[in-house]
Amino acid sequence: MKQQAWLPIAIAIILFANTEFKGQNLNRQVFPDMELKSQRRLLEVPDIEGFITLKGDFHMHTVFSDGSVWPEVRVEEAWQDGLDVIAITDHDRYHPNKEYLKYDNNTHYNLAAESAKNKGILLIHAIEVTRKMPPGHFNAYFVKDANLPEMEDTAARAFLTVMEKLHEQGAVMIWNHPGWIAQQKDTVKWFPVHQYILEKGWLQGIEVFNANEWYPIGLQWAAEKKLAVFANSDVHDPMRLAYDYSGNFIRPMTLVFVKARSEEAIRQAILDRLTVAWFNGTLAGTEELLGQLFEKSVSIQKVETAKGKTKYLVSNMTDFTIHCKGLSADWTGKLELTPRSAVTLIVPESTSSVDLEVTNWHIGMKENLQRRWNLSR
Ligand SMILES: [Zn+2]
Ligand SMILES: [Zn+2]
Repeated sequence: MKQQAWLPIAIAIILFANTEFKGQNLNRQVFPDMELKSQRRLLEVPDIEGFITLKGDFHMHTVFSDGSVWPEVRVEEAWQDGLDVIAITDHDRYHPNKEYLKYDNNTHYNLAAESAKNKGILLIHAIEVTRKMPPGHFNAYFVKDANLPEMEDTAARAFLTVMEKLHEQGAVMIWNHPGWIAQQKDTVKWFPVHQYILEKGWLQGIEVFNANEWYPIGLQWAAEKKLAVFANSDVHDPMRLAYDYSGNFIRPMTLVFVKARSEEAIRQAILDRLTVAWFNGTLAGTEELLGQLFEKSVSIQKVETAKGKTKYLVSNMTDFTIHCKGLSADWTGKLELTPRSAVTLIVPESTSSVDLEVTNWHIGMKENLQRRWNLSR
């Protein structure tokens, strides 16, 4: 009986030692595997001769206008999606959360700047100048101070003063979503005010793609009026609530061809119209830039010649989608090159070159990139 009196004490000591002395609490177990790991997508996009290709989204919102996320979230999303550069473009005078948040037109930039720096994402200080059509909405990039007293002036003329003041700050401006149905219901028109700001030198670019809409006429205008093309998300919700990320989704983006990985080089590239719009497996831009991207993206290798036919392997090393249609008498077939894939091309042995059209790479409203492949025999 005497020994048994020790038993409860011995058990207590063992339990106490297991749970507390060794720093383990059996009443708390953690499952780290449940957490979403932050992971960056690596997109394969070629550089072109003499330039580095940067991947950017230059239009997005936060709670500091009518978006539903905090500015730092935009940086994390951009990092995960493989982007190099973003611009947060909250509206200049549409502030539905003003009652709950204390802020001004620079806050969205200021709050994201540090995390952008930590993640190696270039963050462009920007604002969306938001007016009824005409003139519509404009993004101003590389602003120094986005709080202009003139922005509060609702008179139509004040818009021009705002554009002039932003230009004086060194900003470059683009016309956003020119074909947005809320602003141009049945047509997509270039208004006299657009001509005026273009001639003043206050307009450097245009969105040919916004959110999930493509405006072929925007590409036409870009060519005629020498504007840089943009494809932007204009996202308001978290990216993963706005787009379907299942499958091989690549967010809309603007490719910028720069001399260096810096804000100043991006500004210069926009001034030099060195951009290409990439959206939904489609490219839009100048013949020159798309041609150079094509040369860097596709390689063609002879496999064999047999029974009067030669077989080639056509490889796409990039994340671009490349749909080709033959234009030569010798070859009128189609090649569908999905990202990072190869397909075969079979032509008569005597064929020395084939002409083709890249049907999803647009250089004009109804015009696609055309190339000639010289085949080694
Ligand atoms: Zn807008
Ligand atoms: Zn917007």
